[in-house]
Amino acid sequence: MARIAIAGFAHETNTFAPAPTAYVDFTEKNAYANGMRGAQVLANPEFAMPIGGFAAAARAAGDEMVPICWYAAEPAGPVTADAFERITAEIVHGVATSGAIDAVYLDLHGAMVADGYDDGEAEILRRVRAVIGPHMPLVASLDLHANVGPDMIRHASALVAYRTYPHVDMRETGARAHGLIKWCLANGRRPAVAVRRLPFIMPPHRQSTMTEPCIGIYAELANIEAGDPRLASLSFNMGFHLADIPMNGPSVIAYATDEAAARAAVDRLGTLVESHEAAFNVGLLPPREAIQLALQQPPGKPVVLADVQDNAGGGATADTVGILEALVAMKVDDAVLAILHDPESARAAHRAGTGATITIDLGGKLVPGHKPFRGSFVVEALSDGPFKLTGPMLRGNTGNLGKVAQLRIGGVRVVVSEGRTQCLDQAYFRHAGIEPKDHRLVVVKSTNHYRADFAPMAERIVEVAAPGLSSMDPASLPFTKLPDGIRMHGKGPAFRHPR
Ligand SMILES: [Zn+2]
Repeated sequence: MARIAIAGFAHETNTFAPAPTAYVDFTEKNAYANGMRGAQVLANPEFAMPIGGFAAAARAAGDEMVPICWYAAEPAGPVTADAFERITAEIVHGVATSGAIDAVYLDLHGAMVADGYDDGEAEILRRVRAVIGPHMPLVASLDLHANVGPDMIRHASALVAYRTYPHVDMRETGARAHGLIKWCLANGRRPAVAVRRLPFIMPPHRQSTMTEPCIGIYAELANIEAGDPRLASLSFNMGFHLADIPMNGPSVIAYATDEAAARAAVDRLGTLVESHEAAFNVGLLPPREAIQLALQQPPGKPVVLADVQDNAGGGATADTVGILEALVAMKVDDAVLAILHDPESARAAHRAGTGATITIDLGGKLVPGHKPFRGSFVVEALSDGPFKLTGPMLRGNTGNLGKVAQLRIGGVRVVVSEGRTQCLDQAYFRHAGIEPKDHRLVVVKSTNHYRADFAPMAERIVEVAAPGLSSMDPASLPFTKLPDGIRMHGKGPAFRHPR
């Protein structure tokens, strides 16, 4: 039996997004999971995050946990110094005062940028390490979109990342982190580590593990890991490209009994990934072409249009109206769209009431240079407060988007909300009175996570290039600090430091 302090602090930071991520974004209502302290962290045995899976594995092994806190915020701009210092201090204080412990587990993302820290997780791990000393196991689970820098590797005993995108293995990853703590305790040391960084950025809409080449890549990862008893863990982080930091980029990380085994594993997997470089391209259709293609599909099942560049999950505003404008201009007679984040319009709809017609400036307010969509909408349905998520990623969690309205213009229905999150769960439509499968075109503001819940009901998926802050084309972004020479996408132009 081991006694393990556990905590979570997760953020995926888009350094190109204008709005910083403040303390309240971690502690107040969240679209998929609220911040928690102490015993609350263990209150929901179904909690669909890594720490939930860690807790289940620890309980099954008879380990005792000291829960400290867990916080996550919707991706956006850098975490403020205030938020970073307060939450990190809460974790460090919790570890320092948890009595006799054998190990520490942290549920982190791996792509946090905080005011003053390009590598937020490295600083969290450094401060925890400073409290527990050099030898105690300190293991963190990471999102598959982690940008792993050398200091994260140095301060952690081991790191382990998700293997699916959509992330349907978050709980499994937490359980793997528990296994790594047990490895460290059983061996009386941390495993040897090897890291291989890959020479190109992977646009996230090409990272789906429901399509090739990533199906094959992750299958091989599991093969390599299972095939060598010296390996404790093998991870492939595809990286989060919307961050102007030197540790941006994909990496393969292995832990093993000895460095040669770890090195052999990262080289085998790294070489396989590099052989698929050309697949990680940009290729997207503009809105009108995408809608036309969607309307040509056989009727019956919906066609899902993915607004991949306005993904709140990538730190975008979820308020751009490029696809909405095209749907209305093309007089599409049956389309539904979620989630358009516009607190002012959601509240205006609630004030007007169901059945009213309101003329509003919808969306287009949060990205410099964008304009709202002005139009008259019928308020079809209203809702407010918490609701259950039902899709494969977040089933078991409670969502809350505050005031939500279903607004209709002609045949186009839009889910407008006070809260901001990516549309990765059909519950977000149903909460606004829309059953997605009953409609011809279903537009989701999401880059890839929507696939878990929406692909099974879709006739076809069409990815759309409307403007937004989660650009899928890294070459279009004003980077200054990327690793010199990294290619901006598969077979793309190389980044050169401005001098
Ligand atoms: Zn992710």
